[in-house]
Amino acid sequence: MIIQNFINGQFVDPLQNKWLDNFCPADGEIYGKIPDSDHEDVEVAYIAAKSAFQTWSRTTVEDRSKILIKLADLIEDNLERLAEAESEDNGKPVKLAKTVDIPRAAENFRFFAHAITQFSSESHETIGQDAINYTLRQPIGVVGCISPWNLPLYLFTWKIAPAIAAGNCVIAKPSEITPLTSFMLGELCNEAGLPHGVLNIVHGIGQNVGHAIVVHPDIKAISFTGGTQTGAKIAIAAAPHFKKLSLELGGKNPNIIFADCDYENMLSTTIRSSFSNQGQICLCGSRIFIEQSLYNQFKSDFVAQIRRLKVGHPNDENTDIGALVSKDHLEKVLDYVKIAVDEGGKVLCGGEQIILKGFDDGYYMSPTVIEVKSDDCRANREEIFGPVVTIMPFTSEQEVLDIANKVDYGLSATIWTNNLNRTMRLTHAIHSGIVWVNTWMLRDLRTPFGGVKQSGLGREGGLEVLRFFTEPKNVCIKY
Ligand code: NDP
Repeated sequence: MIIQNFINGQFVDPLQNKWLDNFCPADGEIYGKIPDSDHEDVEVAYIAAKSAFQTWSRTTVEDRSKILIKLADLIEDNLERLAEAESEDNGKPVKLAKTVDIPRAAENFRFFAHAITQFSSESHETIGQDAINYTLRQPIGVVGCISPWNLPLYLFTWKIAPAIAAGNCVIAKPSEITPLTSFMLGELCNEAGLPHGVLNIVHGIGQNVGHAIVVHPDIKAISFTGGTQTGAKIAIAAAPHFKKLSLELGGKNPNIIFADCDYENMLSTTIRSSFSNQGQICLCGSRIFIEQSLYNQFKSDFVAQIRRLKVGHPNDENTDIGALVSKDHLEKVLDYVKIAVDEGGKVLCGGEQIILKGFDDGYYMSPTVIEVKSDDCRANREEIFGPVVTIMPFTSEQEVLDIANKVDYGLSATIWTNNLNRTMRLTHAIHSGIVWVNTWMLRDLRTPFGGVKQSGLGREGGLEVLRFFTEPKNVCIKY
């Protein structure tokens, strides 16, 4: 499988004809080549995007919306083949790609096709001055979208859809580890009638292609999802250009369980919030705090159920936990288990690499629960981003709030309780961009999405992201 760049509606090789290997996490085999592009490819993409912007920014909202809806339909029509590709590229169970990743990619286009029709300008009559003020919301121009490997098409389209709905043209870079579905998206864009140059996809390494997008003087805004350290590098590189930045970064999210919760619902949801997508979701609740009186029961039930999860080949419909995304990532996650043990943690289940018969070189690992004595350890403070959670008891609401807020991250938090007053106190006091109460990852695309502290800058989703992808201009007319 040869993946090519998608520039000006054409599939093209990288100008320097350099290529990278693409690995299949399920068996560790190389199964394709992807462009190792550089700043020259970004420049060609920029010229195409700049030219397309003249027309696209003046295309009616209704016409843009129709194309995005067509694209959403085409993604749904191709669900099976996109899901299989996503699973092959990323290692996630194919059933997850079919039910979560690809439907959501379609929904991203459908949602923003509608949202843009409801995005209006404001006007104010300035009484006493015989003037009217109004605010135009104009597309920015050419913008950059850079996305990670964990939810490849899902997060790629989460950025692209609002950017183009708002009338911008895009240069996008998916993670070099998972380029396949974004490559397939190019062909669907042409089929949907998206004018050439509106979306350009340049593949390659972050430090080359990603950096070239970030420092390009005429790419005016960058929407980035990825790790906190990369986000910091991007912020530094973009600062001299005064670009608009939206940074969706890492998390170390608390899952706080009170004894008065709805136990069965909490237990099954906590298994999902711990290990969905092999724990490689920025929203996973990787620090679990349980009220002391419930601790022993939770520990025993949780571990028993996790032992029953099936680690298997992503194509097997019975697989709960597929392969991790790469060999390097697997090694990083296994190292964290060692670090946790060295710091006094006790592995209650998992903690090991798994060799699957017939797929001996795949990147599999058992779901892991580590009991920690104190929150003051690296496993509880640093993002592991794999199938590893820590558990720890707490005795009071204030104690757990302090611990929850002590980390550098603030993306999401989950609270399990049926006490309304406690819910109100905690949801106000917790340092986090998103708080779920008695649920997890229940998403409504109208809501603002993003984190505080080192989890990011700005919000995506709903009208927030349409504000990000437009430049407000105040016009004042005296009459
Ligand atoms: P990275 O930060 O390594 O990479 C993200 C993207 O940025 C990739 O496309 C990468 O390219 C690119 N990149 C790397 N370096 C640069 C650079 N200097 N300039 C521009 N672009 C660059 O993250 P991962 O792909 O490893 O994804 C995992 C991380 O993403 C986790 O920390 C996770 O928490 C976070 N995440 C956050 C979410 C949120 O909404 N807050 C959602 C999902 C994930 P390449 O692949 O070639 O390195």
